[in-house]
Amino acid sequence: MSIVEMPLRSMQNQVSEEEWKQRVDLAACYRLVAHFEWDDLIYTHISLRVAGCANHFLFNPYGMMFEEITSSSLIKVNLDGNVIMESSYGFNPAGFVIHGSILGARPDLNCVLHLHTDQGMAVSAQRRGLLPLVQTGALLQPDIAYHDYEGPATDTEERARLVHDLGEKNLMILRNHGTLTAGKVVSDAFLRMYNLERACKAQVLAMSDSEELELPTETALQKAREQGRKSFHDGHSGLVWTALLRMLDRRDPSFRD
Ligand SMILES: [Zn+2]
Repeated sequence: MSIVEMPLRSMQNQVSEEEWKQRVDLAACYRLVAHFEWDDLIYTHISLRVAGCANHFLFNPYGMMFEEITSSSLIKVNLDGNVIMESSYGFNPAGFVIHGSILGARPDLNCVLHLHTDQGMAVSAQRRGLLPLVQTGALLQPDIAYHDYEGPATDTEERARLVHDLGEKNLMILRNHGTLTAGKVVSDAFLRMYNLERACKAQVLAMSDSEELELPTETALQKAREQGRKSFHDGHSGLVWTALLRMLDRRDPSFRD
């Protein structure tokens, strides 16, 4: 029997009301990543710290497409990547190295989103990283960190370097690998990723043309950096998130299962 054919036991009555709301938001985030075609088969992850449990995290079941993930199928693990709530689904601890290191070191962040999109991987391979070619990219500039590629992130010694490179920022380009964003809540991490992916796509499209690129003036960039700091504060994404949940409910509300 494949894992999606397994009868799904609802977790709604087995977790706190707050954790259930978190599960719905995280499942919605997986569905949105699939909707925007940012998923990579069964790979990459989005993690969320359980409210009131500093060392417990929700993570995707290994083997499921993001479009299949539901609130009940999310796996609960601890900081060492051990499953702490019985589940019918598997867990890939290797995927937790990046997430565990950031969530363990940054108590101000609860959600980490990591992707391998075409445009994100393309920009991650460009030496100058994300350029402020368009407004979306310019607004994000002050909050973007970079981490050099060290091979697949299975080495626990890389954890300290990841945390050091992220510093106090909320977005990171993993060079030669992909993109990463984080937030206090799922919706903040998602909206940061939405803007980062759009900016990466615009850069790839602009660079595919032989036209010389037009960069904004330093005065315009300074204004954009200041505005970016104000725009992407914690909790900036509530209104957009409510609209996105309405869209998911119209298309396929099974993320709430
Ligand atoms: Zn990755």
